Amino acid sequence: MQIGIPAETRAGETRVSATPETVKKYVSQGHQVVVQSGAGLSASVPDAAYEAAGARIGSAADALGADIVLKVRAPEPAELAQMKRGAVLIGMLNPFDAANNSAMAAQSVTAFALEAAPRTSRAQSMDVLSSQANIAGYKAVMVGAHYYQRFMPMLMTAAGTVKAARVLILGAGVAGLQAIATAKRLGAVIEASDVRPAVKEQIESLGAKFVDVPFETDEEREIAQGVGGYARPMPASWMQRQAQLVHERAKQADIIITTALIPGRAAPVLLKEETVQAMKPGSVVVDLAAAQGGNCPLTEADQVVVKHGVTFVGYTNLPAMVAADASALYARNILDFMKLIFDKEGKLVINLEDDIVAACMMCKDGQVTRAQ
Ligand code: NAD
Repeated sequence: MQIGIPAETRAGETRVSATPETVKKYVSQGHQVVVQSGAGLSASVPDAAYEAAGARIGSAADALGADIVLKVRAPEPAELAQMKRGAVLIGMLNPFDAANNSAMAAQSVTAFALEAAPRTSRAQSMDVLSSQANIAGYKAVMVGAHYYQRFMPMLMTAAGTVKAARVLILGAGVAGLQAIATAKRLGAVIEASDVRPAVKEQIESLGAKFVDVPFETDEEREIAQGVGGYARPMPASWMQRQAQLVHERAKQADIIITTALIPGRAAPVLLKEETVQAMKPGSVVVDLAAAQGGNCPLTEADQVVVKHGVTFVGYTNLPAMVAADASALYARNILDFMKLIFDKEGKLVINLEDDIVAACMMCKDGQVTRAQ
């Protein structure tokens, strides 16, 4: 079948959905691959590298008109309009965006949103949330260090001693754990917190201190377990105790990285304005939840702002700042998902008995299939 790799059109999107490595695999499986000219440029992949891997270089219409279209982000209306009825679309398509699901259904494409894959061992190799959150956690530390006007490691010099930076990480999922590991490599002193008590061990094994918000009821303990690997909104009583503890820890911190997300909802507020007012001047907050409203109400999406002497970094697409590796991992996620919808002869077979295929499917034959 023909696989199309269009250039991404969303502002600031530098990633690409296939690399020469994955193109080679598709070609060896008997597919023809058409890559829009320039699609890989911002991820440091020239057209010639795709051609050498066996792809044909074409126009946007060629790539969007293919039988299978691989995207990073959900197509904009003008892109969707160029897709064939019955074509398969795979990407990070915002499963909670009902209007987008309806638009894709109206174009009669069969769309798979990889963010909706279950958090199971079998789905790990195609888990785009994890592959991209890992990069976001790393880059959050790099960006935080960039805006922080002091050293990260402790230094003893002839001109005097410099203290190590204190980094506080709120939310220790995939991004948070990578942020801990990265800040540790730079020599920072790290504290981290999460709703899930199970992460205590992981936080400590990376060399950080666990900031524990104890449970006072069985209900709090049960909600904190989350569902299917995702957090649920915690009761107000627990959030209040967490806020008090965060207030105390934030006063000591130099860099705070917040990563707490609850799928399909606004991000929980973990850092209140009165806490920011108590922070040291020159501190930096990198808010990875900026696209979902932020873990701090002072964060502004896609802006760097200074409020109460604290710098807030609200970049909403940190993986796009590590475009080459983010694309390489994302392209492998898609390659692994493709194995689920093709049989050994290279024929498209959509098997809804497969829990990953069923969970990722947003629409088919003009109907939205995702239960909202
Ligand atoms: P996420 O991006 O949805 O959330 C980030 C973190 O914020 C989570 O750890 C969450 O518990 C935390 N959080 C939410 N509300 C909070 C609050 N009020 N205060 C503090 N922290 C809060 O989560 P994620 O990183 O995508 O994944 C979470 C977990 O799911 C992982 O750490 C892992 O254990 C599990 N997971 C499993 C698989 C798998 O088995 N295939 C794959 C990926 C992740």
